[in-house]
Amino acid sequence: MKNPRIVCQFSCGAASAVATKLALAQYGETHDVQIINAFLANEHKDNRRFLADCQAWFGQEIVELRDEKYGADIIQVFRRERYMKGLRGAPCTKLLKRRLLDTWKNPGDVMVFGYTAEEADRLDDFRERNPDRPVVAPLIEMGLGKEDCKAMILRAGIQLPEMYLKGYDNANCIGCVKGGEGYFRAIREDFPVEFEELCKVQDELGPGSYLHRNRKTNERFSLRDLGDGPIRRNEALPACSFFCEIAEQVFVPSERPQQATQDIIASFR
Ligand code: SF4
Repeated sequence: MKNPRIVCQFSCGAASAVATKLALAQYGETHDVQIINAFLANEHKDNRRFLADCQAWFGQEIVELRDEKYGADIIQVFRRERYMKGLRGAPCTKLLKRRLLDTWKNPGDVMVFGYTAEEADRLDDFRERNPDRPVVAPLIEMGLGKEDCKAMILRAGIQLPEMYLKGYDNANCIGCVKGGEGYFRAIREDFPVEFEELCKVQDELGPGSYLHRNRKTNERFSLRDLGDGPIRRNEALPACSFFCEIAEQVFVPSERPQQATQDIIASFR
């Protein structure tokens, strides 16, 4: 029987880069390993440089998928869908990433999760809940955390994405709607143009689009009304990948690193 395709989602972050490198080392000889990336107009431009550097490191093309309906632009999604975040997550990740994957994937594909050891406590749960969705999580198998991944990228001679260098914890869109107050204070300071664009969307859409609540009154407030307070560039945001809507439900204690995978990682250090 033919081996299933192994699908790595490269999200321009250090973790997905290392997970992809590991998956290529582990399955590249025996399986059809595909690397896909969803282009988003709202990410930092340096993400494309990082993608090109990683593509050279992988020695394999990264297939870039790009939404056309919304111009791959989260602002267009918010304006046209008339909300920014709902009970079932953010419309941007669903419409600009998940939908692309649905058109591209084949039945039986094995997905590579770029979740790190810190995010490991729901993987078993995910597998239990989704027995028909085969996934592998090389970083969790290896016990590799976010900082390990960054160090491995640097050792490979690749500069981390500019957002990391500025102190952010991820290379998500500038002004990711999954961010908390401290994160948005940082965005307001570092990226005033992008911050104002999000404010304007909220001006148009009204309170239903507000992302944050006053802790005392529980009332929602707009980004424009975000008060002064701690600035948290390194706030850990939920992952935003093709698979995050599925995977965010999930996490489990990491298993001990498998020796086979340890050997693989040693081979490209
Ligand atoms: S990174 Fe944040 S803003 Fe961008 S698509 Fe994902 S959830 Fe939406």
